[in-house]
Amino acid sequence: LFAGPVDFVKGVTGMAGLPPADRVEVCFAGRSNVGKSSLINALTNRKNLARASNTPGRTQEINYFALGDSRYMVDLPGYGYAEAPVAIVAKWQALLKSYLAGRQTLRRAFVLIDMRHGIKAVDEEILGLLDKSAVTFQTVITKADKVNRETRDETIAQVKAALAKHPAAYPEIVVTSSEKGEGIETLRAVIAGLE
Ligand code: GDP
Repeated sequence: LFAGPVDFVKGVTGMAGLPPADRVEVCFAGRSNVGKSSLINALTNRKNLARASNTPGRTQEINYFALGDSRYMVDLPGYGYAEAPVAIVAKWQALLKSYLAGRQTLRRAFVLIDMRHGIKAVDEEILGLLDKSAVTFQTVITKADKVNRETRDETIAQVKAALAKHPAAYPEIVVTSSEKGEGIETLRAVIAGLE
């Protein structure tokens, strides 16, 4: 699946712009700077397919990528900018809510968590939304190469404890490093295996 063509389809700012719901779709959510663009690029083996948009004004688009003609990968705007204006945050939440609740073909939401930070309050908001939307979500820990064994174990334990409170959580966590390639093949297999 990942060896075939990967194309940027479009960036959308509202539900009306979504492409036809005609194939299995997965989405990626995470705090800004969590390593979401790097992960999508590592998965697809591209350097610049997904670009980090570190300007709050540029973060409102949902970006669609097609894996051949059988899967969409959806890059959701990063959340948790300290300086993001209230109106932008509200707009983002509204869009996310309608997307998560209303996208029939969405099979899994990957919630990215930085290995150095674990699950924060702002991540909990997203997990709460996912519980309500009844979309199965799976935690992907990023930047595993940045920490030592001890921190790694601590973060994994913290994430597991937090997930225990969320009915929509898929129990298996994927630990990744886009830098070193850890977990990338595992995550590809998860995506390829969804029906
Ligand atoms: P985004 O804002 O979530 O799209 O985050 P980016 O993918 O742009 O990554 C944010 C920063 O973290 C960049 O400086 C990346 O080079 C770095 N980064 C991302 N993934 C990894 C990783 O697996 N290991 C290391 N060491 N750095 C990473």
